[in-house]
Amino acid sequence: MDIQVLGAHNCESQNSKLVSLLIDDALAIDAGALTSSLSFPAQQKLKTILVTHQHYDHIKDIPTITFNLFLRGATITIYSIPAVFEALTNHLLNGRIYSRLMELPPESPTVKFNVIEPGKSEQIEGYGVLAVPVNHSTPTVGYQITSPDGKIVFYTGDTGPGLADCWEYVSPQLLIIEVTASNRYEEFARESGHLTPALLGQELTVFREVKGYLPQVVLVHMNPELEEEIEAEIAVVAGALNSSIKLAYEGMQIHL
Ligand SMILES: [Zn+2]
Ligand SMILES: [Zn+2]
Repeated sequence: MDIQVLGAHNCESQNSKLVSLLIDDALAIDAGALTSSLSFPAQQKLKTILVTHQHYDHIKDIPTITFNLFLRGATITIYSIPAVFEALTNHLLNGRIYSRLMELPPESPTVKFNVIEPGKSEQIEGYGVLAVPVNHSTPTVGYQITSPDGKIVFYTGDTGPGLADCWEYVSPQLLIIEVTASNRYEEFARESGHLTPALLGQELTVFREVKGYLPQVVLVHMNPELEEEIEAEIAVVAGALNSSIKLAYEGMQIHL
Protein backbone atom coordinates (compact mmCIF):
# COMPACT_ATOMS: atom_id res chain seq x y z
CA MET A 1 0.00 0.00 0.00
CA ASP A 2 1.39 3.39 -1.03
CA ILE A 3 -0.01 6.40 0.77
CA GLN A 4 0.64 9.90 -0.45
CA VAL A 5 -0.06 12.87 1.80
CA LEU A 6 -1.46 15.52 -0.54
CA GLY A 7 -2.37 17.96 2.22
CA ALA A 8 -1.16 17.82 5.82
CA HIS A 9 -2.47 21.01 7.44
CA ASN A 10 -5.58 22.79 8.70
CA CYS A 11 -4.76 26.07 6.91
CA GLU A 12 -4.05 26.62 3.25
CA SER A 13 -1.30 28.82 1.79
CA GLN A 14 1.31 28.58 -0.94
CA ASN A 15 3.23 26.22 1.33
CA SER A 16 0.50 24.30 3.12
CA LYS A 17 -2.52 22.37 1.90
CA LEU A 18 -5.65 21.05 3.55
CA VAL A 19 -5.87 17.40 4.55
CA SER A 20 -6.10 14.84 1.75
CA LEU A 21 -4.62 11.36 1.52
CA LEU A 22 -4.22 9.29 -1.63
CA ILE A 23 -3.98 5.51 -1.42
CA ASP A 24 -2.49 3.65 -4.41
CA ASP A 25 -3.76 6.38 -6.79
CA ALA A 26 -7.29 4.92 -6.60
CA LEU A 27 -8.74 5.91 -3.26
CA ALA A 28 -8.69 9.35 -1.63
CA ILE A 29 -9.61 10.20 1.93
CA ASP A 30 -10.82 13.76 2.49
CA ALA A 31 -10.78 16.35 -0.24
CA GLY A 32 -8.81 19.32 1.05
CA ALA A 33 -6.17 19.19 -1.70
CA LEU A 34 -7.31 16.93 -4.53
CA THR A 35 -7.35 19.38 -7.43
CA SER A 36 -4.54 21.60 -6.17
CA SER A 37 -2.21 18.55 -5.85
CA LEU A 38 -3.20 16.19 -8.68
CA SER A 39 -2.82 16.53 -12.46
CA PHE A 40 -5.93 16.07 -14.62
CA PRO A 41 -4.89 12.47 -15.54
CA ALA A 42 -4.30 11.67 -11.85
CA GLN A 43 -7.71 13.11 -10.98
CA GLN A 44 -9.30 10.88 -13.61
CA LYS A 45 -7.63 7.78 -12.11
CA LEU A 46 -9.39 8.47 -8.83
CA LYS A 47 -12.42 6.23 -8.38
CA THR A 48 -13.49 6.94 -4.83
CA ILE A 49 -13.34 9.64 -2.17
CA LEU A 50 -14.01 8.74 1.46
CA VAL A 51 -15.01 11.82 3.46
CA THR A 52 -14.62 11.96 7.25
CA HIS A 53 -16.92 14.92 7.95
CA GLN A 54 -18.53 18.02 6.52
CA HIS A 55 -16.09 20.74 7.67
CA TYR A 56 -14.98 22.85 4.73
CA ASP A 57 -11.27 22.02 5.01
CA HIS A 58 -12.17 18.36 4.31
CA ILE A 59 -14.61 18.87 1.40
CA LYS A 60 -13.10 21.92 -0.27
CA ASP A 61 -12.00 20.27 -3.54
CA ILE A 62 -15.14 18.19 -4.10
CA PRO A 63 -16.76 20.84 -6.34
CA THR A 64 -13.58 21.41 -8.34
CA ILE A 65 -12.64 17.77 -8.88
CA THR A 66 -16.19 16.75 -9.74
CA PHE A 67 -16.47 19.61 -12.25
CA ASN A 68 -13.22 18.48 -13.91
CA LEU A 69 -14.55 14.92 -14.10
CA PHE A 70 -17.92 16.16 -15.42
CA LEU A 71 -16.17 17.93 -18.33
CA ARG A 72 -14.32 14.72 -19.17
CA GLY A 73 -17.39 12.51 -18.94
CA ALA A 74 -15.90 10.63 -15.96
CA THR A 75 -17.62 9.72 -12.69
CA ILE A 76 -16.61 9.30 -9.06
CA THR A 77 -18.13 7.71 -5.98
CA ILE A 78 -18.12 9.53 -2.65
CA TYR A 79 -18.63 7.55 0.54
CA SER A 80 -19.51 9.18 3.82
CA ILE A 81 -22.12 9.60 6.53
CA PRO A 82 -25.58 11.18 5.90
CA ALA A 83 -24.55 14.56 7.39
CA VAL A 84 -21.94 14.95 4.64
CA PHE A 85 -24.46 14.05 1.93
CA GLU A 86 -26.82 16.72 3.28
CA ALA A 87 -24.07 19.34 3.47
CA LEU A 88 -22.93 18.67 -0.11
CA THR A 89 -26.40 18.59 -1.66
CA ASN A 90 -27.89 21.50 0.34
CA HIS A 91 -24.94 23.88 0.54
CA LEU A 92 -22.32 23.14 -2.12
CA LEU A 93 -23.51 21.13 -5.16
CA ASN A 94 -26.91 22.80 -4.93
CA GLY A 95 -27.23 24.64 -8.26
CA ARG A 96 -26.48 28.01 -6.64
CA ILE A 97 -22.98 27.71 -5.20
CA TYR A 98 -22.05 25.07 -7.80
CA SER A 99 -23.67 22.72 -10.31
CA ARG A 100 -25.82 19.85 -9.08
CA LEU A 101 -23.23 17.27 -10.05
CA MET A 102 -25.00 14.56 -8.05
CA GLU A 103 -27.84 14.84 -10.62
CA LEU A 104 -25.97 15.92 -13.79
CA PRO A 105 -25.70 14.74 -16.45
CA PRO A 106 -29.10 13.09 -15.94
CA GLU A 107 -28.21 9.89 -17.79
CA SER A 108 -25.13 9.26 -15.61
CA PRO A 109 -24.46 11.78 -12.82
CA THR A 110 -20.81 12.65 -12.23
CA VAL A 111 -21.04 12.03 -8.48
CA LYS A 112 -22.54 8.94 -6.96
CA PHE A 113 -22.92 9.21 -3.18
CA ASN A 114 -22.96 6.06 -1.05
CA VAL A 115 -23.83 6.24 2.63
CA ILE A 116 -21.37 4.26 4.73
CA GLU A 117 -22.53 2.66 7.94
CA PRO A 118 -20.09 2.98 10.86
CA GLY A 119 -18.94 -0.36 12.24
CA LYS A 120 -19.86 -2.30 9.10
CA SER A 121 -16.90 -3.35 6.92
CA GLU A 122 -17.32 -2.83 3.17
CA GLN A 123 -15.30 -3.78 0.10
CA ILE A 124 -14.53 -0.67 -1.95
CA GLU A 125 -12.23 -0.86 -5.01
CA GLY A 126 -10.78 -4.09 -3.60
CA TYR A 127 -9.99 -2.57 -0.18
CA GLY A 128 -11.66 -3.39 3.10
CA VAL A 129 -13.09 -0.12 4.45
CA LEU A 130 -14.36 0.29 7.99
CA ALA A 131 -15.81 3.62 9.18
CA VAL A 132 -15.39 4.24 12.92
CA PRO A 133 -16.95 7.20 14.80
CA VAL A 134 -14.52 9.61 16.50
CA ASN A 135 -15.04 12.62 18.79
CA HIS A 136 -15.30 15.88 16.89
CA SER A 137 -17.62 18.91 16.99
CA THR A 138 -19.76 17.53 14.12
CA PRO A 139 -20.48 13.86 13.23
CA THR A 140 -17.18 12.39 12.04
CA VAL A 141 -15.87 8.95 11.12
CA GLY A 142 -12.30 7.75 10.76
CA TYR A 143 -11.52 5.12 8.13
CA GLN A 144 -9.57 1.88 8.50
CA ILE A 145 -8.37 0.71 5.09
CA THR A 146 -7.14 -2.85 4.54
CA SER A 147 -5.32 -3.52 1.27
CA PRO A 148 -5.71 -6.80 -0.68
CA ASP A 149 -2.30 -7.91 0.69
CA GLY A 150 -3.33 -7.27 4.30
CA LYS A 151 -1.72 -3.88 5.01
CA ILE A 152 -3.81 -1.77 7.39
CA VAL A 153 -3.95 2.00 7.92
CA PHE A 154 -6.36 3.91 10.14
CA TYR A 155 -6.93 7.63 9.53
CA THR A 156 -8.98 9.30 12.26
CA GLY A 157 -10.02 12.51 10.52
CA ASP A 158 -10.49 15.39 12.98
CA THR A 159 -10.89 14.14 16.52
CA GLY A 160 -10.64 15.20 20.12
CA PRO A 161 -9.70 12.96 23.05
CA GLY A 162 -11.68 9.91 24.21
CA LEU A 163 -10.80 7.33 21.56
CA ALA A 164 -10.82 4.21 23.80
CA ASP A 165 -13.99 2.86 22.12
CA CYS A 166 -12.58 3.60 18.69
CA TRP A 167 -9.39 1.63 19.41
CA GLU A 168 -11.48 -1.49 20.04
CA TYR A 169 -12.48 -1.58 16.37
CA VAL A 170 -9.16 -0.98 14.65
CA SER A 171 -5.78 -2.74 14.40
CA PRO A 172 -3.63 -0.61 12.13
CA GLN A 173 0.06 -0.94 11.32
CA LEU A 174 -0.03 2.77 10.57
CA LEU A 175 -2.12 5.36 12.42
CA ILE A 176 -2.65 8.70 10.71
CA ILE A 177 -4.12 10.99 13.35
CA GLU A 178 -4.60 14.69 13.82
CA VAL A 179 -2.72 17.06 16.10
CA THR A 180 -4.05 20.53 15.39
CA ALA A 181 -2.47 22.68 18.11
CA SER A 182 0.33 22.75 20.67
CA ASN A 183 -0.07 21.92 24.35
CA ARG A 184 -0.85 25.49 25.48
CA TYR A 185 -4.10 25.27 23.42
CA GLU A 186 -5.45 22.23 25.26
CA GLU A 187 -8.65 23.97 26.35
CA PHE A 188 -9.39 25.05 22.77
CA ALA A 189 -8.60 21.52 21.56
CA ARG A 190 -10.95 19.89 24.05
CA GLU A 191 -13.76 22.35 23.25
CA SER A 192 -13.45 22.05 19.47
CA GLY A 193 -12.68 18.33 19.25
CA HIS A 194 -8.99 18.36 18.37
CA LEU A 195 -5.75 16.98 19.81
CA THR A 196 -2.51 18.44 21.13
CA PRO A 197 0.73 16.45 21.57
CA ALA A 198 -0.03 15.80 25.27
CA LEU A 199 -3.60 14.69 24.49
CA LEU A 200 -2.29 12.44 21.72
CA GLY A 201 0.14 10.91 24.21
CA GLN A 202 -2.77 9.98 26.48
CA GLU A 203 -4.71 8.45 23.57
CA LEU A 204 -1.70 6.40 22.47
CA THR A 205 -1.18 5.18 26.03
CA VAL A 206 -4.78 3.93 26.01
CA PHE A 207 -4.21 2.39 22.56
CA ARG A 208 -1.28 0.39 23.91
CA GLU A 209 -3.29 -0.74 26.95
CA VAL A 210 -6.20 -1.86 24.75
CA LYS A 211 -4.26 -3.39 21.84
CA GLY A 212 -0.95 -4.42 23.40
CA TYR A 213 1.18 -2.59 20.80
CA LEU A 214 1.69 0.81 19.20
CA PRO A 215 1.52 1.38 15.44
CA GLN A 216 3.71 3.82 13.51
CA VAL A 217 2.09 7.22 13.90
CA VAL A 218 1.92 10.02 11.34
CA LEU A 219 0.35 13.38 12.22
CA VAL A 220 -1.78 15.60 10.00
CA HIS A 221 -4.00 18.72 10.36
CA MET A 222 -1.29 20.76 12.08
CA ASN A 223 -1.73 24.51 12.30
CA PRO A 224 1.33 25.71 10.32
CA GLU A 225 1.86 28.60 12.77
CA LEU A 226 2.25 26.12 15.64
CA GLU A 227 4.16 23.41 13.80
CA GLU A 228 7.57 24.01 15.38
CA GLU A 229 6.04 23.94 18.85
CA ILE A 230 4.06 20.80 17.99
CA GLU A 231 7.19 19.10 16.65
CA ALA A 232 9.16 19.81 19.83
CA GLU A 233 6.31 18.62 22.06
CA ILE A 234 5.77 15.49 19.95
CA ALA A 235 9.44 14.54 20.38
CA VAL A 236 8.80 14.43 24.14
CA VAL A 237 5.69 12.24 23.69
CA ALA A 238 7.48 9.88 21.27
CA GLY A 239 10.40 9.58 23.69
CA ALA A 240 8.13 8.81 26.65
CA LEU A 241 6.28 6.13 24.65
CA ASN A 242 9.44 4.89 22.93
CA SER A 243 7.60 5.01 19.62
CA SER A 244 7.82 6.56 16.15
CA ILE A 245 5.68 9.66 15.61
CA LYS A 246 6.26 11.71 12.47
CA LEU A 247 4.70 14.95 11.28
CA ALA A 248 3.31 14.61 7.76
CA TYR A 249 4.13 17.12 5.03
CA GLU A 250 2.76 17.79 1.57
CA GLY A 251 4.15 15.19 -0.82
CA MET A 252 5.11 12.69 1.91
CA GLN A 253 5.07 9.12 0.60
CA ILE A 254 4.51 6.23 2.97
CA HIS A 255 4.97 2.64 1.84
CA LEU A 256 3.32 -0.04 3.96
ZN1 LIG B 1 -13.34 19.34 11.50
ZN1 LIG C 1 -10.34 19.96 9.81
